[in-house]
Amino acid sequence: MKKMETDVVVIGGGATGAGVVRDVAMRGYRTILVDRADLGQGTTGRYHGLLHSGGRYVVSDPHSATECAEENAIVTRINADAVETTGGLFVIGPDDPLDFGDAWLKGAQETGVPHEEISVAEALRREPRLNPGIKRAFAVEDGTVDGWQMVWGAAKSAEEYGAQIFTYHEVTDIVREGDQVRAVRAIDHKTGEDIEITCNFVINAGGPWAGQIADMAECPEVNVVPGRGIMIAMNHRLVNQVVNRCIYPSDGDILVPVHTVCIIGTTDVKVEDPDNLAIPRNEVQQMLDAGEVLIPGFRNSRALHAWSGARPLVKDNRVSADDTRHMSRGMSIIDHQHRDGLNGMLTIAGGKLTTYRLMAKNIVDVMVDQLGDDRPCTTETEAVPGSKDLKTYHVTHRLEEAEKNLRKEQIVCECELMSRRQLEDLIEEQPTASFDDLRRQLRLGMGPCQGGFCSIRAAGIMQETGKADTERVTALLRKFLKNRWIGLWPILYGDQVRQTALDNWIFQGTLDMDHLPEAEEAHV
Ligand SMILES: Cc1cc2nc3c(=O)[nH]c(=O)nc-3n(C[C@H](O)[C@H](O)[C@H](O)COP(=O)(O)OP(=O)(O)OC[C@H]3O[C@@H](n4cnc5c(N)ncnc54)[C@H](O)[C@@H]3O)c2cc1C
Repeated sequence: MKKMETDVVVIGGGATGAGVVRDVAMRGYRTILVDRADLGQGTTGRYHGLLHSGGRYVVSDPHSATECAEENAIVTRINADAVETTGGLFVIGPDDPLDFGDAWLKGAQETGVPHEEISVAEALRREPRLNPGIKRAFAVEDGTVDGWQMVWGAAKSAEEYGAQIFTYHEVTDIVREGDQVRAVRAIDHKTGEDIEITCNFVINAGGPWAGQIADMAECPEVNVVPGRGIMIAMNHRLVNQVVNRCIYPSDGDILVPVHTVCIIGTTDVKVEDPDNLAIPRNEVQQMLDAGEVLIPGFRNSRALHAWSGARPLVKDNRVSADDTRHMSRGMSIIDHQHRDGLNGMLTIAGGKLTTYRLMAKNIVDVMVDQLGDDRPCTTETEAVPGSKDLKTYHVTHRLEEAEKNLRKEQIVCECELMSRRQLEDLIEEQPTASFDDLRRQLRLGMGPCQGGFCSIRAAGIMQETGKADTERVTALLRKFLKNRWIGLWPILYGDQVRQTALDNWIFQGTLDMDHLPEAEEAHV
């Protein structure tokens, strides 16, 4: 077994864990983050993409509304390259209660969420596809954020402060010595090797898996309830700004433009297992109907991909066990010293991606206090690498880049304008990356063809670089296509059926995909 030593082990490489490891490292502790998969592969990679202005919570959860408003401004600064400042609208639809607008307005004023009431004509000018029957509209500072870019930014910043980031390391045990945490054991899924990291402190940022992780330290009944929500990416940006229905938070009431697509969502259903998240067809229909309310003709546009994620909701005894929509969205810090008599371990769950930095600050403050140190948080003042110029993302950036290098660079993915250089650079930096790892960072296969053209090219390039032999490349491609299919079949209608048939012809006609030799799972 490989042995290592550090001060603080952070478990979980979603938004929360990435924020925590950055904060811990910036306060001068030695720290290691471990995730059982890639960074942002859990809930953080399966969310709606909205950098909340706070508007959604001004009536239902005023405290969260204020936190979101404040963190929106901070994240836009420190993670600028991941954020697009689209702006947003809250609109009262033709059949929505008109008086909610007054409650919303009062809530926005009281919570400090920046807003402005605009005329219906102005809202329709800003968003020409919007339902012309809307009765009232408010403009807010919603934005969109690429969760993967944000998490990698935080992780790279942590590395600059000496942190180590171990992806594909699954925690299997938390070792106690009496009432003190002593070490974390994990298995490295890439090599099969066991590793033990001796430490003084563990921060459990395992999202919907946080309860399972707390169990490993003999801290039972950490009740994190996975609340599943589905989302559907539609071809093109049907809207330029985030469009929210101005109603009490409900299903399918937000449309978010992210990169080249827009995403409708979401639902909220209590599930047992965060590793087993369905995309039920009735919920797909529900989302398409919800889209129609905001954008007439929504159903006629092309649905590209569906996915589901699990909110790490902390159970509040005041609401029924099945009612995840009304469970607290606020962050919860569980102090195992106080709760279970175990020193050196804290759990954090709940909250939102928008408030990831604040969540990290709050839990690291508790840790610093328990360690008897005096090391203030500085994450608010310093931008992550890649965001130092404070320039926010714009959807046309890749196009500008591609036009500049028109004759110099091959385009591997036409849908997302991903260049060969971008792909080769990332393969060089992360030679053991799977195609899904590459997808998360480069958007490979996320456009209309869902990998039909670009995945074969990426496979060829990967093989040419010598980083993977033919057998491994075949295995990677097969797994990638299988994963894409999970999000394709629930939304197959109209043009996307024709696209999928074409993709199938390409894979069978060029590679005889069904008859390629099966590779060992270990190759992937
Ligand atoms: C449907 C939906 C829509 C949402 N939309 C928005 C939105 O628009 N805006 C917003 O601000 N928030 C949104 N949220 C909330 C937001 O996505 C989450 O609050 C946030 O992503 C949670 O991040 P996390 O790091 O706590 O959890 P996760 O991202 O789930 O991270 C937990 C990590 O722990 C790892 N892990 C688990 N077990 C182990 C183990 N044994 N060893 C090592 N690692 C392990 C997992 O691999 C995972 O990477 C949404 C959530 C959902 C479900």
